[in-house]
Amino acid sequence: MNEKKIIIMFGPQGSGKGTQAKILSEKLNLPHISTGDLFREAIANNSELGKKVKEVMAHGNLVSDELTFELLRKRIEKDDCKRGFILDGYPRTMEQIRLLDNYVEVSKVIDVEIADEEALKRLANRRQDPETGKIYNLYTAPKPAEEIKHRLLQREDDQPEAIIKRLKIYHQQADAVLKHYQDLTIKINGEQKIDEVAADILQAI
Ligand code: AMP
Repeated sequence: MNEKKIIIMFGPQGSGKGTQAKILSEKLNLPHISTGDLFREAIANNSELGKKVKEVMAHGNLVSDELTFELLRKRIEKDDCKRGFILDGYPRTMEQIRLLDNYVEVSKVIDVEIADEEALKRLANRRQDPETGKIYNLYTAPKPAEEIKHRLLQREDDQPEAIIKRLKIYHQQADAVLKHYQDLTIKINGEQKIDEVAADILQAI
């Protein structure tokens, strides 16, 4: 295997793959790169890219493969990615796979599995604290303290219509992505507590 560790966290929205990517990032001391976060950052900064993708994202649609890879490429060219990185939310299409494989050698794919029904419940209850950026869940964990509940916000694309669309798009692409990387894929039961999922992932890699 290539010395550079490139791990893809895969799974539907709400599977907890972002949370697990952060935990793994600390354990392995590799940067966690979420294309969704990079896009949200661009929107918050009101950059040209942010202006281009704002509407697309709000409706739960995918940004174009070219724009997405361009954004990712700029990020993975940075020095902190020399030893590798953990991808979260990329690749989502066959074209994104092609662009990525042309550029780097993927080491492992962690497929965090949960049922759609559970994903829907989790996403509808996901909230973010605008002051700290921390993500909470009113239904699962981590639950927010009473005194901060009033200021928590919901992501625009965590509204029911956008959630359903995002899950539909995920399923349209997921089989092809997993098939492509089947020899590198480890399946993890995402319907457990956060630390249990993390332990399963660490054991598997
Ligand atoms: P996420 O936080 O991963 O659910 O991503 C939120 C939104 O960002 C998605 O619904 C897309 O609009 C956009 N996005 C993130 N990653 C990608 C990607 N790999 N390809 C296309 N669009 C993406």
